[in-house]
Amino acid sequence: MDHSIFYKNHKIKKYFGQHFLIDNTTINSIVSIINPQFDQKIVEIGPGFGALTKYISKYVSSMTVIEIDEEITNYLLNNPFFYKKLNIIKGNAIKINYSNLAKKLGQKIRLIGNLPYNISTSFLLHLFQDISYIEDMHFVLQKELVKRLIASPNSKDYGRISIITQYFCSTQSMIEISPELFKPIPKVSSMLIYLKPHINQPYMVKNLSNLSMITRLTFSQRRKKIRNSLSKLFNIQQLENMGINTNLRAENLNIKLYCQLANLLEL
Ligand code: SAM
Repeated sequence: MDHSIFYKNHKIKKYFGQHFLIDNTTINSIVSIINPQFDQKIVEIGPGFGALTKYISKYVSSMTVIEIDEEITNYLLNNPFFYKKLNIIKGNAIKINYSNLAKKLGQKIRLIGNLPYNISTSFLLHLFQDISYIEDMHFVLQKELVKRLIASPNSKDYGRISIITQYFCSTQSMIEISPELFKPIPKVSSMLIYLKPHINQPYMVKNLSNLSMITRLTFSQRRKKIRNSLSKLFNIQQLENMGINTNLRAENLNIKLYCQLANLLEL
């Protein structure tokens, strides 16, 4: 099915981050990496005119899509190819309660989407609240963000979002997608990322707001030694007792150490 005719009539809404995938080879690669199975509950964020949806919906008994643009939801609702298979939710993906959605669908959900870049980070943080109801996630994101999500300590990309994401999920970058494979062409390259929530949680933080506060303190003063950036919370002796070299900087501490620091605040 060729949906390009609808792009022509559609006035692109920049504020909804609309960059539609137009390359069939890329679309096929993404779909085969997602590997949808008949009984799985797939939830797509921002289906647009169905670049991914039209293929994925063929493999499953039904799928849910969440789209904010009323012009697009009207198009999907009026197109028999889509409305027969799709549970179409018109709304803001950041406002949806994904645990309730998974409960309604009767099993953990697989989330997918070529995400609008302007909401990506806040959307991921929103999802992590419902992580135990999520089977896995495949998202097309800005390449720079993917590099930060998968970053290891001692690299310039390693930061708060790497720590929070890897606290909840294992992360893997899959394929790079160059700007000209979208319409309109974005300014930056994209990447497909795979996020799989940990089955056996490798890190245990008693109070996640402590982890959030500690990483905010260290990374907002990235160039400072942690003996200084964390001086309001811990004395040097406490840090050294944990085997931490206090001359290190924010990006040198691994997630396990950040979690131990967060738990120390709870003692
Ligand atoms: N999946 C389509 C594709 O690959 O061609 C469209 C991808 S486009 C990058 C992002 C889509 O998300 C658009 O259809 C846009 O209207 C929709 N969108 C933007 N913000 C949204 C939000 N907060 N909640 C749900 N959908 C949103």
